[in-house]
Amino acid sequence: MSMITLALSKGRIFDETVPLLAAAGIVVTEDPEKSRKLILSTNQPHVRVVLVRATDVPTYVQYGGADLGVAGKDSLIEHGGQGLFRPLDLQIAKCRVSVAVRSDFDYRGAVTQGSRLKVATKYTSIARDFFSAKGVHVDMIKLYGSMELAPLTGLADAIVDLVSTGNTLKANHLVEVEQIMDISSHLVVNQAALKLKQAPLKRIIDAFAGAIGEK
Ligand code: AMP
Repeated sequence: MSMITLALSKGRIFDETVPLLAAAGIVVTEDPEKSRKLILSTNQPHVRVVLVRATDVPTYVQYGGADLGVAGKDSLIEHGGQGLFRPLDLQIAKCRVSVAVRSDFDYRGAVTQGSRLKVATKYTSIARDFFSAKGVHVDMIKLYGSMELAPLTGLADAIVDLVSTGNTLKANHLVEVEQIMDISSHLVVNQAALKLKQAPLKRIIDAFAGAIGEK
């Protein structure tokens, strides 16, 4: 039997995928928070989990480094989704992509006056599409983390970032001024693997589908 490799990222996606794996009879036998290992074994000798950065999950699955993975819609949009079969919205790791500014920045005024906005974000595709649809001209500044810092240091007027409870924005005196889209994580499958390892992959997909149906 050939090995099935599932790509996950640590944190919410890993934690919220564990119950779905349980529905497929798969138990990860190592704790990702307690080990530096990047390949985790499971109770099933032919199933393993690889830990990758959330934004790298689509790439691993696209090129067959993993047969399947769980990726946020944000990561899927930025990646483009080429070569990926996307059978299920798992309805996990939910959040939204929003625009946020310093509480003393007049965002509405800037938009109505047609000012150029300096926007810092990791999500340049989502941000570019959103502002171009609004007809707002932006100077995009690509960041890889701690977006909240950008408006506080004068690097940018606005950020585009994931928001869940809003606590991170609040702690940094930022306010959410637009909600761009709702995000959840999706199951993605390598298209070649889907043909070559059809039976074991279908079992996992069906078990995940059953588990989210019961929620
Ligand atoms: P919160 O303070 O609950 O609004 O969470 C915001 C912070 O957590 C930001 O730094 C986000 O980038 C991150 N975050 C929120 N939801 C998610 C998610 N579903 N996946 C990854 N990062 C998230």
